[in-house]
Amino acid sequence: MPHLLDLVPQDVPLRRVANTNDGEYAGPCPGCGGKDRFRVWPREGRYWCRGCGRRGDTIQYLRHFHGLSFAEAKRVLGLADTPCSHAERTEQEARKNTRAMVKEIYRVWCHEQMIFYTDLHRELLAEEEILQIALLHPRLYDQQQDELYRHQLVSVQEQLASIQTDLDVFTYNEFEDVRFFLFKNRRRADAR
Ligand SMILES: [Zn+2]
Repeated sequence: MPHLLDLVPQDVPLRRVANTNDGEYAGPCPGCGGKDRFRVWPREGRYWCRGCGRRGDTIQYLRHFHGLSFAEAKRVLGLADTPCSHAERTEQEARKNTRAMVKEIYRVWCHEQMIFYTDLHRELLAEEEILQIALLHPRLYDQQQDELYRHQLVSVQEQLASIQTDLDVFTYNEFEDVRFFLFKNRRRADAR
C-alpha cells in the first residue's frame, strides 16, 4: 500500500522539518498552496493543513486532493479486492485532466496579471517623471498649470502605491495564498 510519503511528493514538494518519531514533513498544501502549511507525519500516516484545515490519512488524502471517492481511494491503495471498472478509470482520468487544466489556467492567469501590472506600473512611473519635470521646468511655470500638475502628480502617486501592492502579489512567491484567493473570486465572478 502506498505511503503518504510516496503520494504527497507527486503533488507538492516536501521537506523534513523534524526528526523525532520518524519525522515530520512540511510543504505547500496540494489544495490551498502556501509554503509550509501542510504537514505530514509518516509514522501516524496522517497529514494536516493549517490553511484549509483538511486532515486525514492516505485514503482521505486521495479523496481530498485527487477527487477520488472512498471506494476508488481504497482500490487505488490496493485495499479493495475488486479492480476499478473501466467507467471508474475513465472518470478518474477525466478528473485528473480537469485538475491539470485548472492548474494551467491558474498559471497563465497569474502570468497575465503580472504582465498587466508591470506595464501599468511602468506607465505610471513614466507619467510621474513627466509631471515632476513639468513642475520643475521654469518655462512651463504658470500658477494654474502648476496646481494642475501637482494635483495630477498626487493622483499618479496614489495609483502607483496601489499598483505596487498588486504587482507584489503577482511577483513574490510568498503571496501565493492571495493570488489563489483572487483567482477563486475571479472565477466565481466570471461564472455569474
Ligand atoms: Zn490547505
